[in-house]
Amino acid sequence: MTKPLIVVTGASSGIGAATARLLSAQGHPLLLLARRSRRMEELALPRTLCRRVDVTDRGAVEAAVHEAQERFGPADAIINNAGAMLLGRIADQPVDEWDRMIDLNVKGVLYGTRAVLPGMLARGTGTIVNVSSIAGRKTFPDHGAYVATKFAVHALSENLREEVAARGVRVVTIAPGAVETELLSHTSDERIKSDYEAWKESAGGALDPQVVAEAIAYAYGQPQSVTIREIVLAATGQEA
Ligand code: NDP
Repeated sequence: MTKPLIVVTGASSGIGAATARLLSAQGHPLLLLARRSRRMEELALPRTLCRRVDVTDRGAVEAAVHEAQERFGPADAIINNAGAMLLGRIADQPVDEWDRMIDLNVKGVLYGTRAVLPGMLARGTGTIVNVSSIAGRKTFPDHGAYVATKFAVHALSENLREEVAARGVRVVTIAPGAVETELLSHTSDERIKSDYEAWKESAGGALDPQVVAEAIAYAYGQPQSVTIREIVLAATGQEA
């Protein structure tokens, strides 16, 4: 039987790219969304549509999902993974960094979800996977605005799960600890960045993104009657 379409946001690097490779190897057609289209095309995955989309642009997300569904049929899952971690102190972090994270980490997840959810509810099946963080469960130094966005992802995911559970749609929250990706590179405060690197090293290193991709695929791969509500995973040496 042919496998259904899966949408992966933030597929141009890190966890999203690893997840795209894995789900493609399992036989799924994919819609990959991110701003760097070349990086997605370089993955060279079969039956995959790569679209340069900023997920804070709701119309662009809707249009790309529509195009992919025309080609591959209904989306059975979305992996809302695109995100940014701009570390800083509430007292002096540039305010535009808050805006960027709130738009991307919170609204981006909502927009991705809305693009596929009505169809899933009509069909009585589907899976929404939201990539949050352990920073969506507890606080960390210099993470103020970031944890605010990730607590929001945890909260909206659980609320959505309750909203759609009886209609056959699954909602899964993935909460990783530190993962070795490009995520930290966008933080503008160099001291906070090097403190974070030192913290990661003291924990014996971060997770490989492949491990997170496998957790996502495990949750998705359960029978539709089973919802893995949340997976929390981190390097063994990560204490916090
Ligand atoms: P990366 O920085 O490697 O990947 C982030 C992805 O998001 C990229 O593909 C990037 O693509 C995409 N992205 C950023 N802004 C936008 C935008 N406006 N529109 C569309 N796509 C966008 O980091 P990770 O793989 O680590 O991050 C993936 C998720 O995992 C994030 O939600 C992050 O918060 C979460 N996470 C990561 C942890 C870690 O330690 N790495 C720990 C816990 C959670 P492009 O720039 O091409 O648009």
